[in-house]
Order: sequence, then C-alpha cells, then structure tokens
Amino acid sequence: MEKGWLGLPYHTISDHYNKLFGEKVYKIPVSVVDDCPNRRGLKGMQTCVFCDVWGSAANKDSLTMELRTQIETYKEKISKRYSSKAFLVYFQAYTNTFTKVSALRHNFDIALSYPWVKGFTLGTRPDCLSKSVLDLWQEYHERSFVAVELGVQSFFNDQLEFMRRGHSAEASLEAIHKIASSTKVDLGIHLIFGNPGETDETIVKTAEIVNTLPITNVKLHNLHVLKQTPLEEMYHRGEFTPIDRETYAHRVELFLQHLSPRFALHRLAAYSSRWDELIAPEWTKDKMGTHQYIIDYLRARKSYQSQLLSLDCASDRLLQEFLQKKSVPTPLHPA
Ligand code: SF4
Repeated sequence: MEKGWLGLPYHTISDHYNKLFGEKVYKIPVSVVDDCPNRRGLKGMQTCVFCDVWGSAANKDSLTMELRTQIETYKEKISKRYSSKAFLVYFQAYTNTFTKVSALRHNFDIALSYPWVKGFTLGTRPDCLSKSVLDLWQEYHERSFVAVELGVQSFFNDQLEFMRRGHSAEASLEAIHKIASSTKVDLGIHLIFGNPGETDETIVKTAEIVNTLPITNVKLHNLHVLKQTPLEEMYHRGEFTPIDRETYAHRVELFLQHLSPRFALHRLAAYSSRWDELIAPEWTKDKMGTHQYIIDYLRARKSYQSQLLSLDCASDRLLQEFLQKKSVPTPLHPA
C-alpha cells in the first residue's frame, strides 16, 4: 500500500514544498564560502573523510563566480530544463555560517532581490550556530521562507568519529532543539548510511530518534568515495568497503518503515554530480537508476514510510493524528 505522496511510497520534499508554496519550486545551488571548522583545523579537527576539495558544491565553477552570476546562470539552466517559475536559493557548499553575520545578511539580500526567488535554504553544521546567526534567520523568516539543512550525518558517536565530523551526536541534538526553540525556520537534517558499524538496529534506532525531533525533513546519502578525500586513501588501503546497492536499499526501507509520515525526504541516496571524481561504489554514478532501484525495491516488497509504526510507539501528536485519520499532517513549522 502506498500513501499517495505524489504516487511514491514516501513523503517527498516536492509534496512538502507544494503544500508550502502552492506550486513547484526548484533549488538553485550556490557557493559563497570556501571553508569550515574542520578544514581550518580548529580544535584539532580534520576534514571529514568523505569531503572533497569542493566542499559538496554542486558546481565547482561556482566557487569563482559572484553570487548574482551564480543565481542567474543556474536559474537559466534549470528553467530551460523544467520550465520552472519559482526558486529557492540554496547556499550549499562548505559551512555557510562559518562567516560574518554581515556577509550572511548581504548574501540573503541578494538572493531575495529576485522576484522569482521565494526564499532560501542553507547548509551548516551543529557547532556553528551563534545567537546572532539564529536571530538573523528568524528575522529573515518573518519576511521570507528560510530553511536550514543541518549536517547531522549520524546519531552514533562511533560513526561520527569514523567520518571525522568533529562533533558528537549530543551536539547535533542540542543544535536541533536550539534552532527549533529560537526560530521558526523550516529545519531538516542530513544523514549518511553505509558507515562501518552500521546495522539494521542502528538504522531503526535512527528513525526512532528522528521521530522525536522538531524538524520537517531529512536528506539521505550513502557514504561514497570521491577522489582527493581521506576516504579514498582508506578505500585503497582496504580500510573501507562501500555499502552495496541492495543492502543500502534495505537500510532505506527500514528507515522509512519506522519513520513518522510527517517528515519529507529530499532524496534517498547520494548522487555524484561529478562522475569523474567518483571512485566507488559504481552504482552511485547512476542517479536515476539508483532512485528507481530503491523505489522498485520498496514497491516489490510493498514497503512504505511509517508502515511499521503503531499508536503504541507514536511519540508526537501529529503522528497520532495521522495514524487515526490516515492523512498526512501539515509540517511542524510552516513558513
Ligand atoms: S563536509 Fe562540511 S564540515 Fe566536513 S570537511 Fe566538508 S565542508 Fe567541512
């Protein structure tokens, strides 16, 4: 049985945005910083094992382009491909709050100066959240749509240590509650599956933890090996084996089955935007094929998001309502 989220067995981010904006919106990925606490080596931190020199930027050319040029160039490309009319500017690469508040304000103002930009979303990490940053987000939330994507990656400290994230699971939980209690931004988290030490049990536990959080969305990645990363060296030394596609699909299935229907999913796997930089696994190169494989896997097994939840384990009011009415509840923090 599928729940009818645009015909898919999970609550899609498109559905989430359609409810918020009443139309389809597309993200324009931009880069405005080129640093983070890990790369800077603060407090002995090291570059995350999976992170390449582009800091997760979607377009490596963007690092040398003015913000206005990036917005206009990528908007043009997306419009040609999808006939799109509404956009969110996505401050994606590196740690976007690892900069001055005045620089953030300047960039937010540029983003919102375009009539077709409905708001912005930005990525950051749990240990880069000053009070002035939170106040700034709330200020912009009062006149536009503001979303934050927090790089949590795992709720297990051994996995965080393997990835060299430089923050703990406790720090992530504290950051999530700090953001939710100080602002009304649309908050989501990133998670990475495929770490050494990961089991079906840790995946189910992850879903149970997420069910208690004041967030609206989740982005899933599989841990993959890119060129010029610490993980590449570990891979060549035989210290890391990427998860295979079937096991990964099963982990996604388990996570979704135990996840409350109130959370929207951005995507179900990492897709290498620069094929020539991917070392392994090979299946990550095939963006649409991987997505379809996971969807087919779920459909073949009649699996869907929230399938293994029951009223007994419901931890929040919205979930209780959903299970009783069988309809998808509205997000916790509508813009
Ligand atoms: S993933 Fe983010 S925090 Fe980690 S090294 Fe890359 S830019 Fe820095």
